[in-house]
Amino acid sequence: MRFSREDAEIFVPDGSEAREALARATHLCVAAHPDDVEVMALDGILQCFGRADRAFLAVILTDGAGSPREGVYGRYSDAEMRAVRRKEQKKAACVGEYAAVVFLNHSSNDLKDRLCPSPTEDLVTLLSRCRLQVVYAHNLADRHDTHVAAALRSIAAIRRMPREGRPSKLYGCEVWRDLDWLAEEDKVVFRLDEHPNIASALVAVFDSQIAGGKRYDLAVAGRRQAHATFHQSHSVDVSSLVSFAMDLTPLVANDGLDALGFAQDHIRRFAGDVSARIARLT
Ligand SMILES: [Zn+2]
Repeated sequence: MRFSREDAEIFVPDGSEAREALARATHLCVAAHPDDVEVMALDGILQCFGRADRAFLAVILTDGAGSPREGVYGRYSDAEMRAVRRKEQKKAACVGEYAAVVFLNHSSNDLKDRLCPSPTEDLVTLLSRCRLQVVYAHNLADRHDTHVAAALRSIAAIRRMPREGRPSKLYGCEVWRDLDWLAEEDKVVFRLDEHPNIASALVAVFDSQIAGGKRYDLAVAGRRQAHATFHQSHSVDVSSLVSFAMDLTPLVANDGLDALGFAQDHIRRFAGDVSARIARLT
């Protein structure tokens, strides 16, 4: 299997052959950076955890070289930082019992460049070797350029697959900007109550990101708890941990659907909800 970057790598926690590990993958997360998967796609990790009939695959599009660094990591070069972040991502793959994690190692600039074909081509190479049911991608309203670029490349790659090989669901998940604002009819709700210890460990292994004072481990858990409580005002909490997603499936069911217009429709429905309530109560 060839990818466009020489230093691309497939890490298989149980040591089995890469080709076989990909063939088992049913739930896939395509993320921009190391540690995004554990924030955005816990639903997929839990869906597959301990199951013989499902397997989770993480795909990391960029190398994480430009990440901020503090404390013991303060003097690390970009190359050393890349190595640390790759090691952390492998630890998470072991904790979460992923089928594999694939490091495609594109630069952030290449990923954001719509004329650079290689990130999408690499994704097509990978996706065609899995038996996909569900794909977790970044959501189109994220406020990190690299994340939105990753979502657009994921959609483009799935559109290049034959219809019978496409996932039945494509979800746009939360990282930088949560999705509490989505209109209720647009909101996909993931209940994440199983294995809370594993969920904590998955984020906690990314020490290089947390050591500088960014407590992603606490923030991610806090956001899930807040979503669970604030999701429905009139009923007791049925879940203690929740995350939200935007259902992007229509974009890979209909190749002619425009991603920009699709995102704007979601914003319009949110605006309509706010406007209707104020109008009703004024
Ligand atoms: Zn990221």
